[in-house]
Amino acid sequence: KWAKFPYHKTLTEFDLSDQTSLSKRQLTQLQELTWLEQQYNLIFLGPSGVGKTHLSIALGMEAIQKGFQVTFVTMGELLSLLKTEEFTRKSQVQLNRIRASDLVIIDDLMYMAMDQREATLFFHLINHLYERSSIILTSNKSPDQWGELLGDEGVAMAILDRILHRAEVVHMNEASYRMKHRQSMFVSE
Ligand code: ADP
Ligand code: MG
Repeated sequence: KWAKFPYHKTLTEFDLSDQTSLSKRQLTQLQELTWLEQQYNLIFLGPSGVGKTHLSIALGMEAIQKGFQVTFVTMGELLSLLKTEEFTRKSQVQLNRIRASDLVIIDDLMYMAMDQREATLFFHLINHLYERSSIILTSNKSPDQWGELLGDEGVAMAILDRILHRAEVVHMNEASYRMKHRQSMFVSE
């Protein structure tokens, strides 16, 4: 009930026909939430508009229905919460919810480069969530590029180790759904 999704999308609204690396069977398996019960993480990788956020929200809604505690944050929001936790009550409350969640969805993981302090704060949070909850991460960068974005290679490796230790990685590399299904203002000839 803490989720704060940017929009509501369900798994039935998720069109699999363009996805080459995600089968109907795998989607059904994700829907069964065994990964969540077993504290597995999910990593959805791919360029913009391929459905990473949609799939995360849909699974998050599924989890809420089954009684799990779920929170949704973008990486940008999460970093600002972590940086203001010491002196902002609102950030404390929100971070405590995140820390108590069964599922934490972190959207757009490596959208921006982090400085050392941010990487350290993020590492401490991942360390807390590790083996206690599941994390869904979405990113347009592959894990081998995370190091440079996290600034500190050592911290990046520690974060990666913990996240990837028990994780399913789904590559969503198909042409953007948004582009394919956009409405053109031109009249077709
Ligand atoms: P991403 O997070 O990968 O950038 P989104 O998940 O936000 O992309 O998807 C962009 C838009 O396209 C959303 O409105 C989403 O519902 C829609 N969309 C993307 N992929 C699919 C899909 N496979 N089936 C149905 N809608 C999709
Ligand atoms: Mg997105």
